[in-house]
Amino acid sequence: MMSSPIVLNTPEIGAGRFAPTPTGRLHLGNVRTAFIAWLGARSSNLRTILRIEDLDPKAIPKGCLEGVYDDLDWLGLDYDECPRLGGPVGPYRQSERFEQYDGILERLNRLGCLYPCWCSRKEVREAAIAPHASDEGPIYAGTCRPAQFSPVKNLNDLPKKNGRTPALRLSVDRAIELQGSQTVTFTDAVAGPQTFDLRKSIGDFVVRRVDGVAAYQIACAWDDLSMGCTQVLRGNDLLPSTVRQLLVIRLLNLPEPQYGHVGLVLSANGERMSKRDGATAIEELRRTGTNPATVIRHLARMTGLPDTSDLDHLTDAFRICNLRQSYFQADVRTGSLGENKR
Ligand code: GLU
Repeated sequence: MMSSPIVLNTPEIGAGRFAPTPTGRLHLGNVRTAFIAWLGARSSNLRTILRIEDLDPKAIPKGCLEGVYDDLDWLGLDYDECPRLGGPVGPYRQSERFEQYDGILERLNRLGCLYPCWCSRKEVREAAIAPHASDEGPIYAGTCRPAQFSPVKNLNDLPKKNGRTPALRLSVDRAIELQGSQTVTFTDAVAGPQTFDLRKSIGDFVVRRVDGVAAYQIACAWDDLSMGCTQVLRGNDLLPSTVRQLLVIRLLNLPEPQYGHVGLVLSANGERMSKRDGATAIEELRRTGTNPATVIRHLARMTGLPDTSDLDHLTDAFRICNLRQSYFQADVRTGSLGENKR
């Protein structure tokens, strides 16, 4: 028994998307993801979507959003649908889509998949089955998991315990029962065949936070579906998130996008780039007079594409199957590019 089908009112032509969480300005690392996602969509004749993942609107510094739009414009990465332009499946900011996420949580609840969890972070950590097994934190020990699964009576009126409002978790045991398999398997367009054991490597995960806002996994999965995204190209740090999102999509009985996870760009000292890595902020490159064509050429070289800044030419040359899982060091000023040995 999976969910009865939801009718998705999406345009006939599929889409690819870039979905940043702008807690800081874009840097070379996340712009490379934007570049790849943009080329993926354009080369497959898909719509291009820019979606802002601001489930925590207060975490977005003032002016940052406009800055992100300007950085992408400056690079020539244009979007058919985005917060500035709108489009047929908007709004394009998660902070304006909360009601939709509540509807999805209701659907999952009807399947008897959800339960309230009053555990604090500390309690989750201390009771964990495998403290470091999951990217989202420890695998939940199931302290609040009910013995029998049935829909939670009223998701919007859950009792407090010890003064605590509960989060909602999705039970992987119930999901396993519903889908008849202990694993989630899929073929990643870049990383190849993937198999994840739901109990061993995922565990019951949070789908609604204590503050009542849907968790990223729900928001992202639903946005991709409801925006008609047929192609999701993103950094391989999100591969474990894909497992959760795919599980939700399968429980909802909806068509899944093709996922592809590319290697992240590492900074010159071999570390994962962070938004705080001021040296590579696009904003700074702009301010210090770098030509956008130089940045595009650099991104192209970091992606194994022809050494050109011509986006049409790059679109023609782009093939998802040629993307690699390698990590690259990148220094846009010196142009040095070395494959990381890791
Ligand atoms: N918003 C996420 C981030 O900036 C990316 C989500 C996605 O591409 O699915 O890391």
